[in-house]
Amino acid sequence: MELPGPDFPAGLIVVEDVAIRGLTHAKAAVEVAEGVQRFIAEVHRFIWPVCTQHGPGLMHPELHQGRAFWICGQGPHPFTAVSDRDTT
Ligand SMILES: [Zn+2]
Repeated sequence: MELPGPDFPAGLIVVEDVAIRGLTHAKAAVEVAEGVQRFIAEVHRFIWPVCTQHGPGLMHPELHQGRAFWICGQGPHPFTAVSDRDTT
C-alpha cells in the first residue's frame, strides 16, 4: 500500500504486482482476484481457481455483464462469480 504522496496523490493499493485502480466494486474485485491468482501461482506454485469442467488451464477474472467473474479459457465460459456482491 502506498500512502498519498507526490507519485500517487490518491494513494495506491497493490495485490502482488496488480495495482488496484477500479472505482467500482466489480472492477476492483477483478483486479484483486488477478493479484491473488498471481500471488498463489508465484508463492504456492499452483493454479487457482480450476474449472470443474475443464480442469487446470487459463482461468482469468474479468467483467461479465457488469460483474466480476472467473472466466474459463476453454469455451470461454463464466466459471463462478469472483464476489457474491451483486452491484457494480
Ligand atoms: Zn471451463
